[in-house]
Amino acid sequence: MIGPQERWYRFAARRRRRTGVHVPAHPSYRCRDCGDAWPCPQARLCLLIGFQGDRVGLMVYLAAHLARALEELPETHPALIAGQILHWVPRRY
Ligand SMILES: [Zn+2]
Repeated sequence: MIGPQERWYRFAARRRRRTGVHVPAHPSYRCRDCGDAWPCPQARLCLLIGFQGDRVGLMVYLAAHLARALEELPETHPALIAGQILHWVPRRY
């Protein structure tokens, strides 16, 4: 059994590991790390590198985020949300 001090250290270590990860916060769809609209420039770079030229796979992934963002942001015009989440992907990369 661990004491409260050890639990605190483990909790703090988990939080430190999470910084620098540019993932969307819900329901605002802003970056958890930098606060920009998601995907922020760092997240875009990570997505482009992560999908390694698989544009279709990236678009399917972003479409899933678009569907969730449309549900979470009912007050925002859908075209603005689509522009934020989809329209940054280069035609070729
Ligand atoms: Zn970010």
